[in-house]
Amino acid sequence: MVQAEDPQVNPDRRSVFRLMFAKARRMKLHTQILLALLLGAVLGPVLGDIATEIKPIGDAFINLLVMIVVPLVMASLIIGTASLGDLRKLGRIGMKTVGFYLIATALAVTLGLVAAETLDPGIGMDEDVKARMLTEYAGVTAEQLERIAEKPTVKDLLVRIIPRNPFQAMAETNFLQIIFFSILFGISLTILSGERRKPVLDFLSGVNDAMIVLVKLVMRVAPYGVFALIAAVSAQFGYGVLLTLLKYVLVAIGTMAVFAVTLYPVSLRVSGMSPLLFFKRYYEVVLFAFSTSSSNATLPLNLQVTEEDLGVSNEVASFVLPLGATVNMNGTAIYQGVSTVFIAQVFGISLGLSDLITIVLTATLASIGAAGVPGIGMVTLTIVLNQLGIPLEGIALVVGVERILDMTRTAVNVTGDTVCAVWVAKTEGELDVPTEVPGVAAAS
Ligand code: ASP
Repeated sequence: MVQAEDPQVNPDRRSVFRLMFAKARRMKLHTQILLALLLGAVLGPVLGDIATEIKPIGDAFINLLVMIVVPLVMASLIIGTASLGDLRKLGRIGMKTVGFYLIATALAVTLGLVAAETLDPGIGMDEDVKARMLTEYAGVTAEQLERIAEKPTVKDLLVRIIPRNPFQAMAETNFLQIIFFSILFGISLTILSGERRKPVLDFLSGVNDAMIVLVKLVMRVAPYGVFALIAAVSAQFGYGVLLTLLKYVLVAIGTMAVFAVTLYPVSLRVSGMSPLLFFKRYYEVVLFAFSTSSSNATLPLNLQVTEEDLGVSNEVASFVLPLGATVNMNGTAIYQGVSTVFIAQVFGISLGLSDLITIVLTATLASIGAAGVPGIGMVTLTIVLNQLGIPLEGIALVVGVERILDMTRTAVNVTGDTVCAVWVAKTEGELDVPTEVPGVAAAS
């Protein structure tokens, strides 16, 4: 049906919009995502309620991605394990990955603590401001306190990693359990005879390929999803709170930035990859993590880019990245270090060396058990505060800027996973960086 043209709209202006839209559609996907992010940030406050109304588009987009993640990870990890064929290699990859993650997380918390202890973001906060924030966000804090997670112990983690029911683990997107089951499934397949193994692997390969196609299809609507998510965030964002907490926000984001531009490039250089090349090929994933605040939702895209554009083998990526989405949260670890010191300073509690060591241990352990979903870092922060006897109401002091910090820490979290995957792949002879990547090589 031909639509009648709206006589109210100036035809010149209409064709300018059409032209702009057509031009935007011809851009590379990552440019479109960046544009959507910037437009969302600028237009959000202007759109106001409309931005809130369109937020379900963003939520639907996240659901689409999370929908893919379980079958994709399982199929890819089972195939990866079955094709490794060498259990010692699997053990080595596992040890390297866990070692990297633990060291990176502990370094991240420590850096957060050192930065906050040196820059004192919580010293000198006005008493009125403090009282106002504690009252204003008391409701959110109460809700948060109901969700307070128990402090995990190493023993708990070891028992909880084994799923009683793998389907329940899938239904709950419990990556540690899914990984555990998939690896054992893959190992069992290698023990079967070739003729029994082949149909299962063929089936899983088909599932894996179909999921990759699905990721590419879903990514076509990414700019719309990203726009809706960012517009809603920026429409609701309390810019006044941002100003009040500016020093805390700057210390947290600044420390994450310092960590990302020092430790990651060093690790990439050790792996023989130019940090610049890495960033050029990877920045779409960073934007994406930033927009969705979810390592889990970013995982399908992360797997695709890490394998296709950075040349990490499927065997390594399918193990290291899903594990990292749950276990390795460098941004979250920094956030916990900075936030704990900030809250303690506002309450006038001084932390001794043994407290700082407790923070490193608890925050590292807490981040292992936490899923890569929005806002989980604040829930696990309560574990750290609880451990130190800092009033949990202190969460109210940071809740107003939670979203922006969540976005930033997610971007750092996923980057850390891939930097580790590149290193593990390099040391295993499983890194084969393509010289040209279609989406990157061609000019936008
Ligand atoms: N949103 C973060 C992630 O998905 C976790 C956090 O809340 O810190 O990685």
